[in-house]
Order: sequence, then C-alpha cells, then structure tokens
Amino acid sequence: MKIKALVILLVFCMTFVFCAKKENTSLIEKSLFGKLNDGREVYKYILTNKNGCKVSIINFGAAVTSIVVPDKNGKFEDVVLGYDSLDGYVNDRAYFGVIVGRYGNRIGKGRFKLDGKDYQLTINDGKNHLHGGIKGFNKALWNAEILDSLKEASVAFTYSSPDGEEGYPGNVNIKVVYTLTNDNALRIDYYATTDRPTIINPTNHCYFNLTGSFENTILDHKLTIEADSFTVVDRELITTGKIATVDKTPLDFRTPTSIGERINDKHEQIVFGRGYDHNWVLRNYNKQVRKVAELYDPSSGRVMSVLTDQPGLQFYSGNFLDGTIRGKGGVYYKHRTGLCLETQCYPDSPNKSHFPSVVLRPGEEYRQTTIYQFSIK
Ligand code: BGC
Repeated sequence: MKIKALVILLVFCMTFVFCAKKENTSLIEKSLFGKLNDGREVYKYILTNKNGCKVSIINFGAAVTSIVVPDKNGKFEDVVLGYDSLDGYVNDRAYFGVIVGRYGNRIGKGRFKLDGKDYQLTINDGKNHLHGGIKGFNKALWNAEILDSLKEASVAFTYSSPDGEEGYPGNVNIKVVYTLTNDNALRIDYYATTDRPTIINPTNHCYFNLTGSFENTILDHKLTIEADSFTVVDRELITTGKIATVDKTPLDFRTPTSIGERINDKHEQIVFGRGYDHNWVLRNYNKQVRKVAELYDPSSGRVMSVLTDQPGLQFYSGNFLDGTIRGKGGVYYKHRTGLCLETQCYPDSPNKSHFPSVVLRPGEEYRQTTIYQFSIK
C-alpha cells in the first residue's frame, strides 16, 4: 500500500516538473535575427510573462529591441525605440536599447589615473570618451543562455572584455541577466569581475516613449526624480565636480513635471545639455534597490517606475535625435521621440575623488540591479 502511494506521489511530482518546464519553454522564444559580416549569428530572445507582456533582446550589444506593455485600455504596444534589422544595430550611434560600457557616460579627455598609473581611453565624443568607446559593450556579440527558472523568463548575456580593450585595464567578465517578471517589470542584474584593478560603470540605454506611437514626442510625459541635486556639466557635458541643488532650477523633478515645460529654458545647464542630459544625485544611496524615478504618459495611462541600487540617474531627453534615423516600422525618429533613464555611478567619477568609486579590483564583484516597472494609471 505504502509503495503504491509512493509511486503515485512520484508520478505526480514528475508530471508537475515536466509541465512546469514545458510551460517555461514557452516563456522564451529564440530565433535568428541576422548575421554579422564575419558570419557570426545574432539571435533574438522574446520573453513573455503571464499577462502577455513581451520583451525582445538580441545578443548583439545585449540590446533590448522591444518592450510591449498594455495601456489603460488594455492595448499592447511597444515602448522602446530600435531598429527592425541587425544592420541598424551594427551601424547605430544612438545606443538604442544596448548595454553601454565599460563606462556608461563620459570620461573627460578619456583619461584617468588608477593606483598611480595613467590610462588613455579611446576618444569618441569630441575630445572625450563616451559609453565605452568605439567598440564598447554595445558592439560586442554576447553569449546568451536561457535560464531555467520555472516562474519567470530570464536570459543571461555574458561577454569577456579583453585587457586593453578601448584602453581599459584588466580582463573583465561581465554578465547581464534580463528578467521579465509577472508583475510587468524588466529587471536587469549586472555582475562583473576583473583580473586587474579597473573601472566599471555599465548601464542600459533604452529610449522610452510610453505613448505607443513613435510619431509622438516624449514632451508631454510627466517625470519625477527622487533627487535634490545634480552633477553640474560644462559645455562638453563633462561634470565639473560641482554638485548643485535642483531647487529653483528647471532640473527640479521632485514633483511630477511635464518634460516639455522647461526644456527650452535659458538656464545655463539646459543650454549646455541642449535640453536634459544630466546626472541626478539620487536620494537614499545605500546600495539597496529603491524607487528613484517615475515616468507617466497621461495619454496612454502608462507608468514606468525606475528602481535601482545605483547612486545616479542620467536623464537624457533625446536631444540628438534629429529625424535622420530610420527606426522600427520605417518611422524616422524625430527630435525628442525617446528619452533615456540610465542608472549609473556619476559621470567622470574616475577623475572626481569625491564621487562614489567605480573601481573594481581582483577578488571583488561588481553588482547592479535596475528595474523598469510598468503599470497604468
Ligand atoms: C548621453 C548623451 C548622448 C547619448 C548618446 C546619453 O546617455 O547622456 O549625451 O548623446 O547618450 O545617444
């Protein structure tokens, strides 16, 4: 009798595991996206959650190519800018959806000193270094592995960046895990190690437009940023080292404010940024994940909350989009049709000793968690 019960229990358990696994395989679809000139294949991974939301990611640049979430009427639409084909991503200079690094944002003159040694990085933005250089993480073909979770769709992307790449010291192994949760969030977990002292500050560079149509700008989106100050920039958008209050400036987003309201203000920082292109000094930095921003589009009712364990947030209002880039569905992306909310350490930190450190040493592990959480109002 006991044996019979045991056999029944065993069969039940096996059926459960089998069904759960089967269900899991349907959470992620993998397909060929294109081939690079050297013949290497690029794949697209479509993650689906139980509510029907979908996130697509390719292993070239570990780029998020679409995020499809419902509006207030239950209509599912894509909310990130991107390209229809691999060519777009290979030739891209706007960093649509990609992981940027090793260092997200700018390093003045591409120079820094570490442990008494001078390093010169690639110069790719005027006289400065931006987003990891000419062939940063955004132009790398990452390895991808579908993670065997029974509940949520996750894909891990890994890349080994060799010593000296774009001027950075140390062999760095980076892993970025994208998870689409069942409460409609895209969670991004970063892990990195090195074999020599180096610097690291990766981020994701999605351009969001919550309206559901890329014919619209983001100027009517309302933004809240949990920050009382920001890092001041010069004309070349290099941080001067000064941390200034947002009080009585167009950079005050402590209460929900339309992006378009003050974007053409004569404030020097807005003039230098050609709009918003600044790093906000986020409140309550203690390496724990907390909510740091909220983006709301009144027309669609879509809300995106940003949660992170990082000290800074770059809000870039798509100022360099000028109608020349042909994006998904053949739409040309006009000025300010997308905005980025990049979680990061402060720009040019390697040259500013009073900013949080971006140094990674052998034996340590770099960690970051950032969550883009979608909902409706
Ligand atoms: C920077 C902008 C830059 C853009 C590139 C943003 O993260 O802050 O200054 O032009 O990336 O697309």
